[in-house]
Amino acid sequence: MGKGPADNFERHFERNREKEALHKARLPGEDDDPLPPPVEPIKKGSAEPGRNDPCPCGSGKKYKQCCLKKKD
Ligand SMILES: [Zn+2]
Repeated sequence: MGKGPADNFERHFERNREKEALHKARLPGEDDDPLPPPVEPIKKGSAEPGRNDPCPCGSGKKYKQCCLKKKD
């Protein structure tokens, strides 16, 4: 006793898993997560802000349109 239905159930599961594995293996990588976007390295402690960042002087302009110009 106890071997009948339970055994069947387990077999059923195993087969399902096998099927799933096969299915996944056959997909041409479409199911895979896309590569994460390249992370821009953050330069910590770099003195200069990015050209498109708000100017650190507080003018509200972009750095390239404010103090970056003045520096030239
Ligand atoms: Zn500025």
